Amino acid sequence: MAENRVVQGRMVTPKKLAELIEGESVMDAEPIEDADRECPDCGGDVITVGYMPSVTEFVTGYKCQDCDWSETDRD
Ligand SMILES: [Zn+2]
Repeated sequence: MAENRVVQGRMVTPKKLAELIEGESVMDAEPIEDADRECPDCGGDVITVGYMPSVTEFVTGYKCQDCDWSETDRD
């Protein structure tokens, strides 16, 4: 599937990427996109995915493709 991306040497689906960011399983995830930013830790490429950890919440998550760095748009 073309929407899969390599993160830290592993091929991940949008849902798997969202689970890496969230730290637990998510209900649904949108296609992975390139984020127009660099990782603050290693300068690597950052990708972004929108996902629903629950039916009432939508989160935009960011993840470095090269290291453990990630963040979300939660307050
Ligand atoms: Zn990084």
